[in-house]
Amino acid sequence: LSSTFTAENEPMLDYAKGSPETAQLAETLEQYKNPADIPIVIGDEEIRTGPVQRQVAPFDHKRTVATFYHATPEILKKAIDSNMKARVDWERRPLQDRCDIFLRAADMISTERRMNLIATTMVGQAKNVYQAEIDATAELIDFLRFNVQFALSTTSYQPISTEPKVTLNSLVYRGLEGFWAAVCPFNFTAIGGNLPMAPAIMGNVALWKPSDTAVLSNYEAFKIYREAGLPPGVINFVPADGPTFGDTITASPHLAGINFTGSQATFKRIWRQVGENLDNFINFPRLIGECGGKNMHFVHPSADLDNVANNTVRSAFEYNGQKCSACSRLYVPESMWPKLKERILSILSEVKMGSPMDRENLVTAVIDAKAFARAKSYIDFAKSSRDLTILAGGKCDDSVGYFIEPTVIVSTDPKNKLMAEEIFAPILTVYVYPDKKMMETVELSKNTSPFALTGAIFVQDDAAKAQLTDAFRFHAGNFYINDKCTGSVVGQQPFGGTRQSGTNDKAGGPFYMTRFTSPQAIKETF
Ligand code: GLU
Repeated sequence: LSSTFTAENEPMLDYAKGSPETAQLAETLEQYKNPADIPIVIGDEEIRTGPVQRQVAPFDHKRTVATFYHATPEILKKAIDSNMKARVDWERRPLQDRCDIFLRAADMISTERRMNLIATTMVGQAKNVYQAEIDATAELIDFLRFNVQFALSTTSYQPISTEPKVTLNSLVYRGLEGFWAAVCPFNFTAIGGNLPMAPAIMGNVALWKPSDTAVLSNYEAFKIYREAGLPPGVINFVPADGPTFGDTITASPHLAGINFTGSQATFKRIWRQVGENLDNFINFPRLIGECGGKNMHFVHPSADLDNVANNTVRSAFEYNGQKCSACSRLYVPESMWPKLKERILSILSEVKMGSPMDRENLVTAVIDAKAFARAKSYIDFAKSSRDLTILAGGKCDDSVGYFIEPTVIVSTDPKNKLMAEEIFAPILTVYVYPDKKMMETVELSKNTSPFALTGAIFVQDDAAKAQLTDAFRFHAGNFYINDKCTGSVVGQQPFGGTRQSGTNDKAGGPFYMTRFTSPQAIKETF
């Protein structure tokens, strides 16, 4: 492995009917018919203790897909001790060796373990096979290989030595002195796999706290890392209740950093806790957060109508609007709306909802009862509000699974809470603006929500394109022109938002890896 090692994006399988992968997947899914019992793992020790927690299939909530256990404060402390012991050797291991382990994990996922990650993501997080392939295999493999590339390239920099025979300057790239806490979301298995792995590649140790609704797939990825050669204790797998986890890590003097994807409220709580404990830490902990969005598609009158319609339906409704990047508000000029509305409704009439086991279902079930109740409350609000009209969808049914119909709502009020708040469900709110008031509407759209994660403009006219691109410069960490605002690819569109969406450290890009190193500058004089 040299500093010029270059990764390539993993090709995706298409799971066509009758293909070998489809047969293999059906077989693998059988293995997960009965609930898996998932331990806490610290070093080489598996721990099963305390009340049994359950992860259920969102599309069939009577079905338990995994039982697991929450780490208590004592267990978390033990996990931190184990991290700190493992750190001594791991940090000294040459970067090349560490990279080899994770490249091996990528190869395992690409080949013999692919179906395990797909199957666990389908049954546990209700992704259909295409969404599972984008996430749990392609993106996770990409994170592994590109992180290795970026680790090697970013650490190849060495400072100048003007008279090397007299004085030699060097930078030694060390891991941080302490442990990282990786707080993982449910919506991407790949992010679960990335948050503890990226620091580990750079010589750090980490606690992996999976989301309670994605324990099954995250554990699968964890096992693969271990089988690929990750030494015990470098990453400890510790499902835990959020506040207990937050309290325990911030009480440890050894907290080196938090790599977080989740809600803005939780990230703020953790940040405050870190602040309150500042005098107790050996180092200043580094905080990396990716916390949601209220992403928009903004349409100019010159836009290609079919392109807007197709991409908006995909962005708003694929994986039920539960990507942080999902489009949840659409701004359309009056002159275009009648036709665009017709086109969107016609595409939507073909969109199917149901179990993720059926590949035809673009929309499945939202992740849990809480997500269902939240989405339903916005739909109920729309039903009772004069400013809002439900154009399509609106039905909610949790008798079997947590199903929310793909819903399109028109708002006559550009600042309505449906235009402003993150909902994280298959609900798209549309605001139709007077053509003459485009720039006013742009300004208003930028300040309707505190988030700035992703956004897209749809425009053919060059002057308008330049004007809109300039206007949105700080309002989307990931900005798309004539394409949907979801679907960033590792190594192609490094991902992250600004403002209340997070610290914009851009996972899937080279700068991300520099957050996990604490270089030592050495000057030697001969
Ligand atoms: N990278 C994903 C995308 O662009 C979204 C990641 C997230 O939901 O956090 O679709």
